[in-house]
Amino acid sequence: MKFLCVLCVLCSFVSAARALEREAFTIAKYDLEIRLEPEQQRLGARGKITLRNDSAHPQKIVALQISSSLNWRSIRVDGKAVQFVSQPYISDIDHTGALSEAIVTLPAEIRPKDSVELEIGYEGVVPLDATRLTRVGVPEEVAKHSSWDQIGRSFTAVRGAGYVAWYPITTESADFSEGNSLFEVSDRWKAREAKEEMKVDLCTGLVDSTMPFMIMNEPPRKEGNGGGYDNQICRLYRFEPLGTVTPTFAIANYVSTFKAPLTLLSLPGHEAGAATYSNALEPAIKFVSGWFGQPTAPVTIADFADPNSAPFESGTLLMASMAAEDSKLAGINLVHELVHSALPSSRPWVYEGLAHFAEAMYRQEQGGRQAALDLLGLHRAAFLDSEKEASATSQKSAGQPLASTFDETYYRSKAAYVWWMLRDMVGDDALKQAIRKYRAEDDTVKDPKYVEQLIESAAKRDLGWFFDDWVYQDRGLPDFHVQSVHPWKTEKGVQFMTVTLENLGNAGAEVPFTIVFEGGEITKRIEVRAKATATTRVEVPGTASEVVINDGSVPESNLTNNVFKISAP
Ligand SMILES: [Zn+2]
Repeated sequence: MKFLCVLCVLCSFVSAARALEREAFTIAKYDLEIRLEPEQQRLGARGKITLRNDSAHPQKIVALQISSSLNWRSIRVDGKAVQFVSQPYISDIDHTGALSEAIVTLPAEIRPKDSVELEIGYEGVVPLDATRLTRVGVPEEVAKHSSWDQIGRSFTAVRGAGYVAWYPITTESADFSEGNSLFEVSDRWKAREAKEEMKVDLCTGLVDSTMPFMIMNEPPRKEGNGGGYDNQICRLYRFEPLGTVTPTFAIANYVSTFKAPLTLLSLPGHEAGAATYSNALEPAIKFVSGWFGQPTAPVTIADFADPNSAPFESGTLLMASMAAEDSKLAGINLVHELVHSALPSSRPWVYEGLAHFAEAMYRQEQGGRQAALDLLGLHRAAFLDSEKEASATSQKSAGQPLASTFDETYYRSKAAYVWWMLRDMVGDDALKQAIRKYRAEDDTVKDPKYVEQLIESAAKRDLGWFFDDWVYQDRGLPDFHVQSVHPWKTEKGVQFMTVTLENLGNAGAEVPFTIVFEGGEITKRIEVRAKATATTRVEVPGTASEVVINDGSVPESNLTNNVFKISAP
């Protein structure tokens, strides 16, 4: 009996060890033909995918997943149908909160690093669905503005993995209600796919007997063949490699306006809002050219049918509603896309970080430094939470180094601050010089310190400590407070104040502080390394009442200890 029990334990151990490894296979290549029928909300797909076994073990089973509103039709290897079982798999990586998973038994084991090509077919509908949000309590009305993906008669816009699995993925279940689970699963998917390729021949049929306008977030390479169907337009898109791009398509009755390098796609009825964009283009190009070089690569801004849809940006496409006439918003949206057009980079923190940083600089040009810091401040909440969670779960305190992260809150929001801090530290001229020298082809894995070296040589200043704390490692955020102030006078009666600041955090920074005195204030900057203090003396032409650290330009974990009142002597 005892022996049997041991055997049972052994058996279950073995079967557990052979449990389905859902993330064993990376999809190294997609070659898909996607036919959309907007009037029926339908999507039909067929094509080939190449799976590479990136696990350490041979694999014979693969779990292929698509949105739960789509169904698997066929899976073949070497022209022969293979066995598969289709089952629902609960996961918040899809807007429906579930996936249609095909558990496929391959004809032979695939060894580590080996690949297999599958011919696949699937179809179904992609209606508006906010289940993954409503089931964690987000009201439907609110949820549908962020979960706006759908194929619809009058308007179609569908984002890829992380929103709608309209192409197959291989992921573990993601859960919205469990902290960062969803973002971990989708960031891991992006990281696995970043170097891989996707080719999509995207076709659409007529809507109300007219041909709608169709786009993806990558300029089309050529007209696709569409398999020779009547009344269809097809275009071929290639994502080589995917990088951080989420393949996204949109189809609508767009009015297209082209003014190099920008294509503006607006919907009928939004003419005034579209004009706001057109009018804001010239000054935006002038500003971007001055900092980042001439914008030349094509970029697109496309309208939403629902004016409350949350904007989305990926690759060379920004989707943002043009229903309102908001010239400030149009200006910063244009600046963002034009930076992409001027400065290609395969490093997300450079590509997106610079674009968000440029938005803030543009805002400063129009409304002053405080307006720029307010714009940056909108980013702070996003990664402040992530940084706190990262430091709370101690194993993950290695966190998300900017240099390698696939987490948007880091490579967009935190990176925007990092560029802003660098600008404050080295000045406009040096940073501009460094950015103008930047070449995507030189910024390679072999030279991880390329950006640091460009800025150091322009600024003639050692920035190794800063890059260590903010770019190469994720050390969280600084936390400054005034340790002591000491007013004193020279023999000739000149008033000075010695100020000592302490940084309780694990990331160092150069931070501004302001001494408020009778009749004015004076602002200085000081470098305070991680877990260290720094002291400086400042000439103060009056009786000081308080010291305020940080004008908001350095993201800090705790802002409640930044004002120091000086009691009268
Ligand atoms: Zn961007």
